[in-house]
Amino acid sequence: MSRLRVAILGSTGSIGRQALEVADRHPDKVEIVALAANTQAELLLEQAARFGIKRLALGDETTARAFAAPDGSPIPGGRSAIETLAGEGSADLVLNALVGAAGLRASIATLRSDARLALANKESLVAGGEILTSMGLDRIIPVDSEHSAIYQCLIGERPATVSRIWLTASGGPFRGADPARLKGVTVGEALAHPRWTMGPKITIDSATMMNKGLEVIEAHHLFDVGYDDIDVVVHPQSCVHSMVEFADGSVKAHLGATDMRIPIQFAFSCPDRWNTPTPAVNFLTIGSLDFEPPDPTTFRCLDLAFAAGRTGGTMPAVLNAANEIAVAAFLAGQTEFNTIPAIVERVMEVHLPDRADSIETVETADAWARQEAASLLR
Ligand code: MG
Repeated sequence: MSRLRVAILGSTGSIGRQALEVADRHPDKVEIVALAANTQAELLLEQAARFGIKRLALGDETTARAFAAPDGSPIPGGRSAIETLAGEGSADLVLNALVGAAGLRASIATLRSDARLALANKESLVAGGEILTSMGLDRIIPVDSEHSAIYQCLIGERPATVSRIWLTASGGPFRGADPARLKGVTVGEALAHPRWTMGPKITIDSATMMNKGLEVIEAHHLFDVGYDDIDVVVHPQSCVHSMVEFADGSVKAHLGATDMRIPIQFAFSCPDRWNTPTPAVNFLTIGSLDFEPPDPTTFRCLDLAFAAGRTGGTMPAVLNAANEIAVAAFLAGQTEFNTIPAIVERVMEVHLPDRADSIETVETADAWARQEAASLLR
C-alpha cells in the first residue's frame, strides 16, 4: 500500500508538531511531503532536515528572506507561498493548522486541488464556510476534537436522521466564575487551560468561550445542522468529546483521552484506525462525568457567535476578525480580558452584513472588522 502523502501548514504550532509526532510513529503509513510555518524559521528548518522535506514555505516574507532551505535554496515567503504549497497537488491530504482567517486561502487552494483537507484552522471555516462547503464538503475532515467526534459518530448514519448536535465544552479556566471575577484576569491565568494543551490564540478563545462559539459555526457548516439544533453543554472532564442525537432518541457519544494526537491521527487514517500510545480511558477509575449548562452572562462570546451564525453572510467573518484583533491585544497586554466580548459585540453592531459567497467579500468584511476593532482598542 502506498503511503499517505501529507502537507502540514502551521507545522511549528501545537497541532503541527503533534501531527509530525503522528507521522513519526507511522513511517510505513505517512509520508510528509511539505511543511509551512508563519515565523518560526529555525524550527521549520529543523523539521525539514529531520523529515527530509524540500517543499517549504514561510508566511512571513521578511523571515523567509533571512533564511535558506537545507539545500541552500531560498524559502518561498508570504501568504501566497503557503497557498501555492497547499494547492500544488503533491499531497493526498493537506493539514491546515494555520491560526486565524489568514488560513482561508490555503483551505480554498487545497480544495481546488484533488487533495483532502484536514481542517484544524476553524477560523477559515467560520469566515468562509459557504465557500469551503460548496467546494467539497466530502473532502473536509475535521481535526477539532469535537468535530472529529461528531464526524466519527456519523459514520454509517444517514444525515437526515440527525436531530441534534451536543457540543461539549470544558468550560475553560474560568468555569463557574462571575463576570466581576473576569475583570482583572491576567494573560497567565487565561493561558492556564485545565484540560487541553494548545496554542495561545485558541487557549484565550477557550477562556472566553469564543472557541466554543466558533465551533458552533464550524459544526453548522460541516454537518449541515441548523443553529436551533446545536446545543453547547459544559463537561469539565472533557472525556465526552461531543454527541449526536438521532430522530429515534438514540444518542451517540465519542469518548477518549484529551489528546489532540488522536483526532489528528484519525484525519490521516480514516476510515481506518491505527494504534496510538495514548493511554485509553479507564472507566473503572474515572468516577463521574458532569454536564451543566453554559453561563451566557459571564461568557458573552457564546451568544455573540450564535447570533453571528444566525445572521450569516459576512457576520461570522466579522465576529472572527474582531475577536482575532481583541485577543492579540489582550495577549500583548494592551487590553483587558473583558474587552474581548465588548469589542466583538460593538463591531458586529455596526456591520452591515453582505453575502459571503466569494473570497473577496469575505476578505473585505474581515479587513473592515480588523480596522474597526483596532480603532475601538485605541
Ligand atoms: Mg475543539
